[in-house]
Amino acid sequence: MSPVVIVGAGVSGLACAQALRAAGRPVVVLERARGVGGRCATRRVEGVPLDFGPTFLHGSAPDFLAAVRAASSAPRGGWPTIVEGQGQPCQPDAFTPGEQRFALEEGVVAFPRALAAGLDVRLQQTITRLEPAGEQVLLETAAGEEHQAPVVVLALAAEQSRSLLSTMSAPPPVVRGAAALLGLSRSQTCLALLAVYPEGTPAPPWQICYPRSSRVLQLVSHETSKRPAGGRVALVLQGRPAWSRAHLDDPAWSDALLAEAGEVVGPWAATPMARSAHRWLYARSDRSSELVAPLLLELPGGAQVGVCGDRFAPGGGVEAAWHSGRALAARIISQAMETT
Ligand SMILES: Cc1cc2nc3c(=O)[nH]c(=O)nc-3n(C[C@H](O)[C@H](O)[C@H](O)COP(=O)(O)OP(=O)(O)OC[C@H]3O[C@@H](n4cnc5c(N)ncnc54)[C@H](O)[C@@H]3O)c2cc1C
Repeated sequence: MSPVVIVGAGVSGLACAQALRAAGRPVVVLERARGVGGRCATRRVEGVPLDFGPTFLHGSAPDFLAAVRAASSAPRGGWPTIVEGQGQPCQPDAFTPGEQRFALEEGVVAFPRALAAGLDVRLQQTITRLEPAGEQVLLETAAGEEHQAPVVVLALAAEQSRSLLSTMSAPPPVVRGAAALLGLSRSQTCLALLAVYPEGTPAPPWQICYPRSSRVLQLVSHETSKRPAGGRVALVLQGRPAWSRAHLDDPAWSDALLAEAGEVVGPWAATPMARSAHRWLYARSDRSSELVAPLLLELPGGAQVGVCGDRFAPGGGVEAAWHSGRALAARIISQAMETT
């Protein structure tokens, strides 16, 4: 059986790959980055793991929660318990009754890393073009290599899936329709700054802060509080979507975020000993443009293109990404059974 090729090793692509493999389908995952996880991201600064996408994992479905717990040697249930400020959390339903929250000692990337275990994931493979070729879909990488498969899955931000679909030289109507649908979907932008402070900096008394009065900062996460061993004080600052969008090309945006942290958190927060910046062009999905279920497009020659990701299940975020990948895998498997 030819492998299903999945583009994107974020949570949705890896969940899809895992479910296909569990059903006996061979799978290859192609990822442009040097590691797995996509937006479910952790970066080390001065040796401290800092979560600069989702600050913590949350969800309500028992199977998703079990997968999160299994991913970490030390899942910290309930984090954050000490919340400062009345501002809007990134995903307000993270704090609704029935929702469980976890910080992972290794960082949130431990979750996608656990999903990737045992899978054939090929890193630093940027797909630049898709082309239907009879019963196959041809994929071209930035390095000029080619892959082909009867079933290709795009497990990306909706904007990225749309731009890959638009590389087909003569897209069939089903692809044009899907691209139009994806065009309705919007992501929020987020400028994020990771900051580590000198030894002796007093730790803030909260674990996460959602400042209401700031027009710049959406949240400040006190990363050190996720780990019982403590360590240097480290913060992640995330800009508000509108502010981030307006300052995407401003070379001084990270200084502006730090200056605002100095106002909101305390003067010490403006002068870290080390920092690292990240621009998320596609961060969280905009609630108003959520799509309900993943797509499985049947091309005229018989090949299939699936599209999944956080936009394709209710609620958005990591849990939605995971469900969408699994739902797409179930559709691929049931379609294959119908046609054999
Ligand atoms: C700042 C921030 C805060 C967030 N807060 C929360 C939160 O509080 N709660 C929550 O649940 N979620 C939150 N999220 C959203 C959550 O991280 C995402 O919804 C989820 O991780 C998306 O997973 P995905 O698999 O759909 O997409 P992604 O994680 O984007 O995975 C797509 C993968 O495809 C790869 N890729 C892209 N283009 C190509 C290409 N051409 N070729 C090959 N590979 C490619 C990317 O490198 C990436 O690894 C946040 C995200 C950010 C950035």
